[in-house]
Order: sequence, then C-alpha cells, then structure tokens
Amino acid sequence: MELGNQRASGNVEDRRGMGMVGGGLGVGGIVVAVIAYFLGFDPGTALQVGQQVSNVSQHERSGQKGTPEDQMGQFVAKVLGSTEDVWSKLLDGYRPPTLVLYDGQTPSACGMGQAAMGPFYCPNDQKLYVDLAFYRDLRARFHAPGDFAQAYVIAHEVGHHVQKLTGTFRRLETAQGRVPKAEFNRISVRMELQADCYAGVWGHQAGTMNQLEPGDVEEALTAASAIGDDRLQQQTQGRVVPESFTHGTSAQRVKWFRRGLDSGRPQDCDTFSAAGI
Ligand SMILES: [Zn+2]
Repeated sequence: MELGNQRASGNVEDRRGMGMVGGGLGVGGIVVAVIAYFLGFDPGTALQVGQQVSNVSQHERSGQKGTPEDQMGQFVAKVLGSTEDVWSKLLDGYRPPTLVLYDGQTPSACGMGQAAMGPFYCPNDQKLYVDLAFYRDLRARFHAPGDFAQAYVIAHEVGHHVQKLTGTFRRLETAQGRVPKAEFNRISVRMELQADCYAGVWGHQAGTMNQLEPGDVEEALTAASAIGDDRLQQQTQGRVVPESFTHGTSAQRVKWFRRGLDSGRPQDCDTFSAAGI
C-alpha cells in the first residue's frame, strides 16, 4: 500500500501497555480461535458474550485517544483514516468508529476482548478492537503477509460498523435466540460476506486515491481465500459442515470481496437479497 499522503485518523484509542496481558486460553485454543476469527470476529458470538458479561464496567480503562506515533500505530491510523475518507463520501452522515489498539486482553461492551479472537467489531460500543500480535500470526501462520492484507482486516471490521449504521446489524440482533442455529448461521454468513464486499468497496476507492500498489489485490484475495469456513473446518476438524458456517466459504468470500472491489458501490453488496451467494 502507498499511504504516504493519507491523513492519519485521530480516532485511535491506544491501550497498549496498559496491563491485563495474558489470558486463560491454552495454546491449542489460541490456534483454533485465531484461525476461526481471522478476518472477522463472528458478530453473533460477540453478542452472546455481551449478554454474559454485561455488568463489566466499560469505562474502567480508556487509553489515550489520538494518533499513535510508532510505525505500526501510524499504519493502522492511516488505514482507518482512508476508510473514514471513503465512507464519509459514500454514506450520508457517516460517523467513524473508534479503533482500540490493545495487547493481551481488554474490556469491551461485548465482553473481554482477547488477542486470540483476532480483530473484532463490537456493535454495542461501536469500536473496532485490534491486537497487533494478530498481524504477526497473519504472517507466520496463514502465509498472508503484506500490508494490504492487514489493511483489509481493518476494512472488513469497518464494514461491520457500516452495517451497524445502516441498520443491517439488527437482522442478527433480532434473530439471536429466536431462530434455529442453522438459520442464525445463514444470516451470519450473509453479514460476513457483505462486510467482505464493503472491504472491497473500500479497496476500489483506495485504488482511485492511488493507495494501491501492484500485487495488493492478489494479497487480499489470498487472505480471503485462506479463511473460508470450508477450508478452516477441513483444517481444524477434517470435515466440512455447511450448516455451521458463519463466515462463508473461501470461494464466496473471494467472490464478494471482488464484487465490491470491481464496482466500488455499496449498493452492489446486498447479500441479503441475492438469490444465491
Ligand atoms: Zn466479520
């Protein structure tokens, strides 16, 4: 990516170095969780967690808000700034989310955020939670290195924020606990594929802002195809169970990311009306 001229966002809350490092997950659990949540925390799970720990005080810890000085923090702030520039053009009255940088674990209005979850969006406080250790895993474990793949992760979570603003997120909140698990998962898949498509829309606009370099798109496609539910289930369980998909197959994720990337229009990301996904 070429972000030299991009304005850095001031909406980064830096909680790194504030303690609470560590956590109770075993190494095996961390590997599975990181794989499962790569490129997006299942929002359904986030809602469930939120209900369980709703009495955790959310204001105990707030980090410094602004723009971090270090290289990684700057990168994240510029990617976030790029999504702000794009979405305020595309969506009337866009209110940007806050991105929380943390290490280890940190409280959120959806429960305790842990590095092992991978980046996630919490609809209850409208914040994105990113632990930079995840990017090291991205490189080492998923062979999806590259700064555009890292930016795509943020753009996908911003896609969930767009869903919160447009009201799409309510589909999931309404279904929670009221429909059978398989039906809930089908809604979740459409939510996730739409967030992938929105990430593609951002990629399209970043391209017109001259922020893409040769190979960037391939990087994101490699990442998207590495983390389809079918491939992850094959790797972790040795079999594929479509009813339990929450993010979509590799082919579906690539397809919807590419659709947003080609068109650059959020209207083309209607995974809910699409006859087939
Ligand atoms: Zn997601």
